[in-house]
Amino acid sequence: MNVKTSVYSLPEYKVPQEAPVKLNQNESPFDLPEKLKKKVLTALEEVAWNRYPPGDLGRLLQQVSGYAGFPFEGILAGCGSNEMIQILIQALCSSGDRVAVVTPGFSVYSRIASVLELEVNEIPLREDFGFDVENIAVRASSDRVVFLASPNNPTGKTLSGEAVEFLAERLSGMLVIDEAYFEFSGQTAQSLISRFERLLILRTFSKAWGLAGLRLGYMMGRPDLIRQLRKAQLPFSLGIFPLLAGEILSSEPELAREAAQTIVSERERVFQVLLKLPGIDPVPSAANFILFRTNKLKGNRIFQGLWEKGILVRCFASPELTDCLRVTVGKPQENDAFITALSSLLKEGIR
Ligand code: PMP
Repeated sequence: MNVKTSVYSLPEYKVPQEAPVKLNQNESPFDLPEKLKKKVLTALEEVAWNRYPPGDLGRLLQQVSGYAGFPFEGILAGCGSNEMIQILIQALCSSGDRVAVVTPGFSVYSRIASVLELEVNEIPLREDFGFDVENIAVRASSDRVVFLASPNNPTGKTLSGEAVEFLAERLSGMLVIDEAYFEFSGQTAQSLISRFERLLILRTFSKAWGLAGLRLGYMMGRPDLIRQLRKAQLPFSLGIFPLLAGEILSSEPELAREAAQTIVSERERVFQVLLKLPGIDPVPSAANFILFRTNKLKGNRIFQGLWEKGILVRCFASPELTDCLRVTVGKPQENDAFITALSSLLKEGIR
């Protein structure tokens, strides 16, 4: 077929997309209010579809800059943080370079690195799923890029500002802190960019902003670095739909804040319930999902049992997560449905 072995050997990225209660992809359960959707659609009607989108995303970047409190010259926007990850690996890594990730962690970093036939340095988290910062500093010291999500997916654990500083002082490659779940954690390392020129932050509109279907994300870094990275982005990659939606939505930051607040209080409620369920061991999370161990019960049996009751959560193939499931925090009634289904599975004595 002439497809590179590195691509041929990759598993397909397949995630089930439909279920009555869909809690498997860390999406926002809140769709955009009707009024805002109409505003975006009207704006779309008013621009020419036969023309390429504007090359400089000036207005969007200004708005994101205001929201994030970061200079707009230091922001690059594109089709989700996934595109940012791809740009970074393409722009920074040459053949023979190594990309460092933690495991368990978000799979897209190593997926893109593998397509480009780069070596991936998988550094294990601690047993409690915390970041082993000293170990990362040693093992990734000469890697070209180090990707760390904070909060981490699927664990929900964050890196402290001191931990980011500790790593930035020791690593010789680019340190990328993926803050896709920033709105739920309220923690950011962005203030350290002024001190460390090899530090980048990734953000997305897919989570608290509720725009996963449109694909919009951004990265923040030193303006001189961002100027270079922009050259590695495909021209006009951001279409007019996500662009206009992003411009309109980012002028209403209270929407994302309110959604995040609701999710965080639901997350705490679900966490407390999970804590009390026999055999269930939830991991404290700063994101919009909760990872839980099913102890001696088998994760895949519970996954299947929930699925049969119309509830879709996430299970994992990796050996360190075989007994774990991840549930995205949804609307209160979705969370109730999940809790009721899980409790009844446990009562039925699933083994
Ligand atoms: N980073 C992390 C840590 C994620 O969990 C996800 C989505 N699951 C992404 C990035 C990708 O987000 P986007 O939709 O912006 O591409």
